[in-house]
Amino acid sequence: MSNSNKTEKVLDILRKEFKDKVRIDIIERVLYERDATTIEIETKLPKAVIFPTTKEEVKRIVEILYNEDIPMIPRGSGSGLTGGAVPIRGDEVVISLEKMNKFSIDLENATVIAEAGAITYEIQKEVEKYGLFYPPDPSSYKFSSIGGNIAENAGGPRCVKYGTTREYILGLEGVIKYGKTFKFGARVIKDVAGYDFTRFLIGSEGTLGIITSAILRLIPLPKERRVLLAFFERLEDIGKAVVKIFTNRIFPSALEFMDYVCIQSVNRYKNLSLPEDVAGMLLIELDGNPQAVLEDMREVENLLRTMGVKVEIAHTKEEEEKLWSARRALGPAISKLGTGKVNEDIVVPRSALPEYIPAVRKLAEKYNLKCAIFGHIGDGNLHVNFLFDKEKKEDIKNVNLAVEELFKLTIDFGGSITGEHGVGITKKPFLKLQLGEIGIELIKGVKQLFDPKNLFNPGKIVDV
Ligand SMILES: Cc1cc2nc3c(=O)[nH]c(=O)nc-3n(C[C@H](O)[C@H](O)[C@H](O)COP(=O)(O)OP(=O)(O)OC[C@H]3O[C@@H](n4cnc5c(N)ncnc54)[C@H](O)[C@@H]3O)c2cc1C
Repeated sequence: MSNSNKTEKVLDILRKEFKDKVRIDIIERVLYERDATTIEIETKLPKAVIFPTTKEEVKRIVEILYNEDIPMIPRGSGSGLTGGAVPIRGDEVVISLEKMNKFSIDLENATVIAEAGAITYEIQKEVEKYGLFYPPDPSSYKFSSIGGNIAENAGGPRCVKYGTTREYILGLEGVIKYGKTFKFGARVIKDVAGYDFTRFLIGSEGTLGIITSAILRLIPLPKERRVLLAFFERLEDIGKAVVKIFTNRIFPSALEFMDYVCIQSVNRYKNLSLPEDVAGMLLIELDGNPQAVLEDMREVENLLRTMGVKVEIAHTKEEEEKLWSARRALGPAISKLGTGKVNEDIVVPRSALPEYIPAVRKLAEKYNLKCAIFGHIGDGNLHVNFLFDKEKKEDIKNVNLAVEELFKLTIDFGGSITGEHGVGITKKPFLKLQLGEIGIELIKGVKQLFDPKNLFNPGKIVDV
């Protein structure tokens, strides 16, 4: 029997058992062919999209597909930026966790048990009612899922103080090879029983199995938050100011950067009037007890003013929210600058920033590319965007060369080719630059253990 006929037969079995939770109609398949990746990638229609509603259903679906050698792609909200959730072979079945979106709060243990499809923002909103805080805040937090955040180890502005998703995951449940189920971790902070498989699964991008639920750790919600803006005339001073804030032992809850290209774009996109005659700006958020926040704010203000930097303070919550929404809208705002956009999310040690940022600008000039840089500068994580004309062959050639050189530069500065968006397919060709032969060999070894038939999200992170 041909592979295609075998898949049809298996899908018939699944449709008998799961009825309209299994969709093979063209509209559904087209909708699940792409994610939010802006880099050109070649995708294929999935054979089907399945919407389980319980862990038992996920188990049964995986069991059937795994035994019949049919590849599958776990999917949350499809907001990934490196092609992690897209089919690239044409024989894959997408398993969407979006209907598994329930969660419950355990106040006594300050934890949440969340199904993988629960939306991060919904959880954050709910726990805040009890004075609790789930800090990981990717800019996509209003629509991305906890499962997707875990699979990508998502970060965001507040990770500079609170750490990324991995710091808040106490345990995971899910399904791996042949439909076997696992349960790692518990509602406890301490747990050293054997290897830390929870951590293996965090950032595994759907290549080891399907996460069905997670135990999230909560902390107290800070009582006060204040936002300052700082405007710089010289690009080099921005990195220096960031380092200075930390060496003065002030750890902001967010420290975000926008260069002048980003400021201009977001002014137009969001109808704002941020100053445009600057090299760049910092958005600095401080949180904690009200008195401590006030003291830190004064100290940061003084530090920056002694560097000759113009500082403004947001006076109302509405003003703060407006600035945050501008920051979150940067991705779409700068997309308007070119028909093509490549958004890389590199990360370098903070101490390297004063030299690194001007070096990136020089690199963009060398390849004649428009470049917009923004990001979570407090933890050294920058989004370097190259903007170009998709119809021009010369531009495409230049952007490919610039990306490779950017990654080499980043590694030379002691950083990583991805701080939060993961490897997926777009960064797969560059992973060896960072991890070397042995790193790739170990990834393949772990993959073999969880997924010996290479059926979970094949072709992502590494080729097996
Ligand atoms: C406007 C915008 C802003 C963004 N900002 C940020 C940011 O600030 N920080 C950041 O880190 N990311 C950001 N992202 C990227 C993206 O939102 C994150 O990677 C997010 O974690 C993806 O979640 P998702 O539910 O959409 O996952 P998907 O895109 O559906 O999937 C992502 C990957 O996870 C796997 N996966 C999904 N669910 C599961 C599961 N249950 N079990 C196993 N594997 C699974 C998929 O196979 C895929 O490889 C942004 C994206 C957009 C569009």
